Amino acid sequence: MTGLKTLSIISPVYNEQDGIEWFHKELCLSLKKFIKCYEIEIIYINDGSSDGSLSKLQSLQPSNGINIKLIDLSRNFGKEAALSAGIANASGDAALTIDSDGQHPFKQISKFLKKWEDGAEVVVGVRRTNKKEGIVKKYGSKIFYKLFNKLTNTTLIPGSTDFRLIDRKVIDEFIKLEERNRITRGLIDWLGFNREYVYFDANERQFGTAGYTFKKLAELAVNTFVSLSAVPLFMSGYIGVLFIFLSLASSLFIFIEQFLLGDPMHIAISGSAILGFLTLFLIGIVLTAQGLMGVYISRLLAEGQNRPLYVIRKETEVNSNLNSSIK
Ligand code: UDP
Ligand code: MG
Repeated sequence: MTGLKTLSIISPVYNEQDGIEWFHKELCLSLKKFIKCYEIEIIYINDGSSDGSLSKLQSLQPSNGINIKLIDLSRNFGKEAALSAGIANASGDAALTIDSDGQHPFKQISKFLKKWEDGAEVVVGVRRTNKKEGIVKKYGSKIFYKLFNKLTNTTLIPGSTDFRLIDRKVIDEFIKLEERNRITRGLIDWLGFNREYVYFDANERQFGTAGYTFKKLAELAVNTFVSLSAVPLFMSGYIGVLFIFLSLASSLFIFIEQFLLGDPMHIAISGSAILGFLTLFLIGIVLTAQGLMGVYISRLLAEGQNRPLYVIRKETEVNSNLNSSIK
């Protein structure tokens, strides 16, 4: 023990074999100026990479004052679970999460640390531009944030990323959250605490391709909604109630206009139209029932989400004095 504060750098790795050595070298270089102030551990989580990432990670050398922890997950659990594995294993007074593809600029790290030292408990990296972002991703995420903030009680700042620093207090609370389908930044935002922001321009990916395909992103968006809001489950219920009101209102209108007043407006409503309104009414009832069922399912979901988030195959620690230990 040196009495210094400890800093954990957490980086999930999925099929980054071409860039990971470069990333590690650059990261260590930019952390060098902090080793006088902090004890530093870099935690790499191999998220079931199918390329040579694991062996590249195993051969990484710690540099002076910077230790490496390697967590090898038993399969690809997705970035969110990988980040959670890293956070759960962080021993730092603060943890900084950073993508291992080089898109999060290292030179911003000092700003995160400064804001943390000044009292922020969560420092969120907010992306200003992403030069190579496709139109679907760009507008998709815009719509997502709009909807998300409307439908849930949690506020996400558009462009906020997983490039963020969290204080020990936040780490301890984060670890207590057990739900399975999660979006890390959403949960951190849900936790609250003092927040500060660091604005940055994302670098282009140097190597490899984004592991987040459109399908994965869409899944992530759905997961976020479902885990932080039960609105999607209740949606059919709301539509059902609307249908019932519509059909009741129109039935009343038909009854009065056609049968009580003898069709003064000359609409001559046909039998099939009446059948139509009846169908609308019945569909309304079915959807309402489904929505009610959704309410119960959401309760069950909340109770039943206690499967482990990830499974670790092996944990290795390489300290800068080159002692390696396997847990
Ligand atoms: N990643 C991961 N598991 C996955 C997909 C991605 O750990 O299933 C990691 C990846 O190695 C990178 C980070 O998450 O460090 C961001 O991934 P990517 O660059 O594919 O996403 P984007 O930059 O498009 O958000
Ligand atoms: Mg990326």
